[in-house]
Amino acid sequence: MNNTMKNIASLLLDRVPESRYRLLRTIGRLADKEGMTAAVVGGFVRDLFLDRPNDDIDITIEGDAVAFGKKVARKYRSGYYSTPRFGSSTAVLHTTTIDFATARDEAYRKPGALPVVTPSTIDKDLPRRDFTINSMAMDISPKNFGKLYTLPTSLSDLDAKLLRVNHDASFEEDPTRMLRAVRFEQRLGLTIEPHTESLLRAAATHGALSTISGERVMNELKLASDEQDPSRFFSRMDDLGLLDIMLPGLGFTSNDKAFLHRTLDARELFGKQAGDRWMTCMLALTRHLSADQAETFSRTYRFPGLLHRQAHRLRQLPDGWWELTPGALSLRFGHLQPPALAVLSAGSHSDLVRDYWQKWRKTRLATTAESLKERGMGTRSAGRLLRKLLEMKRDGLLPDEQAERAEIDRRLKHRGRRRKK
Ligand code: ATP
Repeated sequence: MNNTMKNIASLLLDRVPESRYRLLRTIGRLADKEGMTAAVVGGFVRDLFLDRPNDDIDITIEGDAVAFGKKVARKYRSGYYSTPRFGSSTAVLHTTTIDFATARDEAYRKPGALPVVTPSTIDKDLPRRDFTINSMAMDISPKNFGKLYTLPTSLSDLDAKLLRVNHDASFEEDPTRMLRAVRFEQRLGLTIEPHTESLLRAAATHGALSTISGERVMNELKLASDEQDPSRFFSRMDDLGLLDIMLPGLGFTSNDKAFLHRTLDARELFGKQAGDRWMTCMLALTRHLSADQAETFSRTYRFPGLLHRQAHRLRQLPDGWWELTPGALSLRFGHLQPPALAVLSAGSHSDLVRDYWQKWRKTRLATTAESLKERGMGTRSAGRLLRKLLEMKRDGLLPDEQAERAEIDRRLKHRGRRRKK
């Protein structure tokens, strides 16, 4: 551990908007008034050096972060919530969200379990963090504003663009760090340092991922899906053998990479209705799996019901679905949400998905269920007839209202004759 005595207040002033600078000053003063010391920590400091905007502020407090978060929230009249068990709280300001955590030491009772925490100081809080480049803090208290705390290689690793764990048991202790490593490496153009990579591969081979809940893994996949180019994350996961460990047979080839790009581009068609980007990524990632494998993946990594059903319905489309008429196709597509449609659109029949979304989906009939019921039909038969009429209209068989009415008359007459027999 190393307290470099460097002061980066002027770097902060240069690189963040003045309002953000003032916010940190104010929070530092507020902590001081409460007899506490505050430091901004982790990704915010890393990105300050990299000159990358980072709107997420994490603050470490020597003192009670749950009570302090509440004070800040009250001052800014913002939202607030806390997790007293972890000594942390969150203030949701208009301009940003600030996470507060009590500076702490952590002990892991068993690999993959959540840690037991004891209060500590800002510099002693650094080694428990995931990577050296994320193990930096900048004091924001009035008397030491800008003072930098780092681990011995935090800055040199950042310069050399290396991602290094803080100690050899890191991945075993918290296997989500394996996925975090890949995410940071790909986002920031770093290289996982060779010893760290061998630790990661060893932890993966020893089954570290299976010591954490599927939900935590999925949470990391969601974050990765929100990266600018998630395909880089999935490719590297595949290189490291992590996808196959997550589910034997799961892979990510260069074709999959191109496919994911097309899928994400296809989201544009749906505008604000495109749905969650991570759902789209998950459907694209798992599209080659057999029904059994897909079921296992979905259950293990806790797909929510909506995603589970979409994956299932995609799989149920018949081979050669693109040869169906617009009417029949629209009936099938009617069960699919935009994330699933985006996946279909990335195949070679993107024009069909576009036509469905822009035209066929919006087809309306002049006839209503009420008007059919007035002519003696029950609710179910009326629904069935409306679906049939819609299909015919989409297929161009009912060009106008008159044709629609004639078709209804014909069918009701036919029905009447059948009844008499
Ligand atoms: P991002 O830029 O994606 O927000 P970040 O570095 O700010 O990344 P967060 O997930 O917001 O990451 O976490 C904030 C900080 O908390 C990290 O920089 C790191 O110091 C620490 N941290 C987060 N998750 C872990 C973990 N699983 N193990 C150890 N330290 C962690």
